[in-house]
Amino acid sequence: MDDYYFISYGLVIIGFLITLAAEINVKSTFKRYSKVMNSRGLTGADAASMILSNAGITDVQIAPVGGSLTDHYSPGEKVLRLSQTVFGSTSVAAVGIAAHECGHAIQHKEGYNPLRLRTASGILANVGSWFSWPLIVIGLGFGFLGLAQAGVILFSFVVLFQLVTLPVEFDASRRAVLIMETSGLLSTEELSASKKVLTAAALTYLAALLSTILQLLRLIMIVGGGRRRD
Ligand SMILES: [Zn+2]
Repeated sequence: MDDYYFISYGLVIIGFLITLAAEINVKSTFKRYSKVMNSRGLTGADAASMILSNAGITDVQIAPVGGSLTDHYSPGEKVLRLSQTVFGSTSVAAVGIAAHECGHAIQHKEGYNPLRLRTASGILANVGSWFSWPLIVIGLGFGFLGLAQAGVILFSFVVLFQLVTLPVEFDASRRAVLIMETSGLLSTEELSASKKVLTAAALTYLAALLSTILQLLRLIMIVGGGRRRD
């Protein structure tokens, strides 16, 4: 094992730690503000239904989904899925997350371009995450450098996907905060707590991107190292 491999593993460990820190942060922030109930007694589902109807969206269903922090908007099905700790909860965290998911539904309705780009690059990213490693392993193992390089290029689609995810996520939260501010869903104090949850969630996307960039660097080092030894 040379320094090269040592450094390349170091990159992966740094990425893992960044992701872990962001995950712990979002879980603890969510937990803290899940205990703070909003004064209007609105559940996540109530808030979502009010926001959607205010935005003139009548064809999106709101449904519960299992798990924690699994909330998402599915553009293909036009369903806004809220986790158990959001759907029926009257916490400030629940309203914030529901509003964020509504932000995605509004992006979809408006034909927000980064959202389309994310959907398209998601397909490439799936292919990239499945086939990059096999191509690199086979390419380096059998000395087909071109194959290994193709694997690295495929993996870069995962980075691209996570890169275009950032504006989509930040914009959904920006819309959520604006809606909560102007519609009076939450009081000023409740709003600032809700913002903290959304910021913590946004940081997980940033951490995922950083971690994937570090993995890409590692792959470039490995494939570059394979060429060096030829
Ligand atoms: Zn989102």
